[in-house]
Amino acid sequence: MKIPLIDLRAQYMELRTEIDEAISRVLHSGVYIGGPEVEAFEQEITAVTGANHAVSVGNGTDALLLALEAAGIGAGDEVVTTPFTFFATAESIVRRGAIPVFADIDERTYNLSPEAAAACITPRTKAIMPVHLFGQPADMDAFRALADRHGLLLIEDACQALGAAYKGRPVGGTADISCISFFPTKNLGGYGDGGIVVTGDAKLADRVHLLAHHGSRKKYFHETTGCNSRLDPLHAAVLRVKLAKLQEWNERRRGIAAYYDRHLAGTGIVPPYASPDSRHVYHLYATQCPDRANVAAEMRKFGISTGHYYPCPLHLQEALRGLGYRKGDFPVTERTCEHSLSLPISPQLPEEQQIYIMDKLHEVTGGSVS
Ligand SMILES: *Cc1c(COP(=O)(O)O)cnc(C)c1O
Repeated sequence: MKIPLIDLRAQYMELRTEIDEAISRVLHSGVYIGGPEVEAFEQEITAVTGANHAVSVGNGTDALLLALEAAGIGAGDEVVTTPFTFFATAESIVRRGAIPVFADIDERTYNLSPEAAAACITPRTKAIMPVHLFGQPADMDAFRALADRHGLLLIEDACQALGAAYKGRPVGGTADISCISFFPTKNLGGYGDGGIVVTGDAKLADRVHLLAHHGSRKKYFHETTGCNSRLDPLHAAVLRVKLAKLQEWNERRRGIAAYYDRHLAGTGIVPPYASPDSRHVYHLYATQCPDRANVAAEMRKFGISTGHYYPCPLHLQEALRGLGYRKGDFPVTERTCEHSLSLPISPQLPEEQQIYIMDKLHEVTGGSVS
């Protein structure tokens, strides 16, 4: 048996008729940039997130970059964030000429620790950027209080967590501005790049839209220099089909996670902690495995792919060496990175494969069969 981390083709097959129809609809419409599909999709995202405004852009990284730019964050400004995330989180800050200031994570949720973040705030801090890592919301009440206390903007990197909720509030509606990615493997993934910025602030939304469209409101008249970052209607049409399935798909992910949680007992592998405050949507099922390299290699022999999210924390990335961090600065992050082992999870993962994965994991770890 060959089991990839995620089988995107299986996802297509589940909705093939509707997706083919949506693509065909766009091809026949003659509208290939902007237009009704994009507008309808943005509207549907506001409904899912509870934020009033959604501006689609070219990808999740642009969503972060444009959110920061729209908020006026630039040269010399500090943004407090986590070193345990995908590179784009900090990359967007650096691209603005601003400074990512890392703080360590909570060892259970893997998310930015509010206490550690609080200790990093200086007079130059302009924003806090928590990441809802692997699909689990960060502690947004604590970050809200911290942001309000210091007059900071709260920007959430929600790229991995569409459909998740924090204390009953959907992700996207829990920060001043939220950035979401539609990279194909994300919980809502397109057939190419895509992203969206959502916010309750009409002025910020307007600014993101302006910047993403060459700084122009009226064709061939430009009030500022922006860029070209758009979600294509082809992608919007496909994403609309998949968005209708998002809650059901996230429930399936949660079901698989619950099955794994139960069956990891006796393997020495620690299942991901799910906070009672949040609805975790398991973009990834990232365990802590003391013997990760060996377990990954042995699982590979049985045809089972595992993932390493992430092998190198951001404070130790070559590209960010200029920030002056060193090994040992964030011990929880470093330890968590080292032991992080992800198991295959996706709404289309068949039950017999889930069982096979747990059986083989027990075999590989010498765990008692459960
Ligand atoms: C995927 C991702 C991004 C970037 O999204 P793209 O659409 O690939 O540009 C940013 N941050 C996090 C946490 C992500 O997982």
